[in-house]
Amino acid sequence: MSSAGVGHPGRIVVVGSLNADLTIYCDRLPKPGETVHGNGFAVNPGGKSANQAVAAARLGGHVSLVGAVGEDANGNMLEASVAGAGVDVSHVRTSREPTGVAVIAVDARGENNIIISAGANGTLSPADVTRAADVLEGADVVSLCLEVSMETVLAAAQAGHDAGAQVLLNLSPYAEIPPALAELADVLLVNAHEAALFLGSDVPGAGAPAAEWDAVCSRFAGRGIRQVLVTLGSKGSVVLDAGAPAGARVTLVQPTEVRAVDTTGAGDAFTGAVAVRLAAGDALADAAAFASVAAAMATTRKGTQAAYPEAADVERRLS
Ligand code: ATP
Repeated sequence: MSSAGVGHPGRIVVVGSLNADLTIYCDRLPKPGETVHGNGFAVNPGGKSANQAVAAARLGGHVSLVGAVGEDANGNMLEASVAGAGVDVSHVRTSREPTGVAVIAVDARGENNIIISAGANGTLSPADVTRAADVLEGADVVSLCLEVSMETVLAAAQAGHDAGAQVLLNLSPYAEIPPALAELADVLLVNAHEAALFLGSDVPGAGAPAAEWDAVCSRFAGRGIRQVLVTLGSKGSVVLDAGAPAGARVTLVQPTEVRAVDTTGAGDAFTGAVAVRLAAGDALADAAAFASVAAAMATTRKGTQAAYPEAADVERRLS
């Protein structure tokens, strides 16, 4: 663990995915077997881990990304985007597999269908985690999601835990996790849908009183998770802390009012912002309040990585 404290940027290691987002815009999504005409196409840098790394770096964190890309144009584009944001890419290696891609269709209402082909991301392994020991040993926060293999996520969580870092686990895209991973996660970050899948039952809607969320906090604790952030899109987020005194286990974080034009990647902006504030020594509720502003600002511009705000933008909005 490095010697970060409140006000000092901490060290963040993100272990996971880089994808090229291939997006076609269309009036309506095709049904199975149907072909529809698109009305626009874009290739953008993406992948949950790459997005989170860029978000955290833009907000002032010292960020290293551990990942894999193919030896192709998409791989070059992704590495350039991440490095251009100031992320250390010395542990992004190349693979014989093609760079991961997300094929995305977006209709006129903003609804989407996404298919991900892991490609090089699927080759990331516990050996890559071992090779990244130099950065993991100095980490304050290790940020993980589920776009790479579970054994790699588990190895990274263990390495982060052993280094004294806080392990931030974004349960997306949703998958069942082994109990050992749940135990290693210091903070679980989920949207309402993922929270319901994890718990096996619905969670309260936005606007529900803290007492209802307190019961959810107990259910997460029963599954070995003591600190949880549940994001609720434009309705804000909820912080659950099973270790806090009774009556203070739930913090409802109000949404930041913005005119959203593109909410793609808002969850990754939120995760990157939480990582950077936790690494700087903030309490979880304070990190969530900061992330609420950063993620809201990310929705006011088109795109994902290109839309993420810088620390000064967020500070201005907060002042
Ligand atoms: P995605 O997978 O699209 O990145 P997600 O489901 O993981 O999203 P959300 O809950 O949609 O994550 O959004 C994460 C956070 O971003 C929210 O908790 C909120 O703070 C912020 N946010 C998202 N959409 C809006 C919005 N329209 N207005 C203000 N803040 C928003």
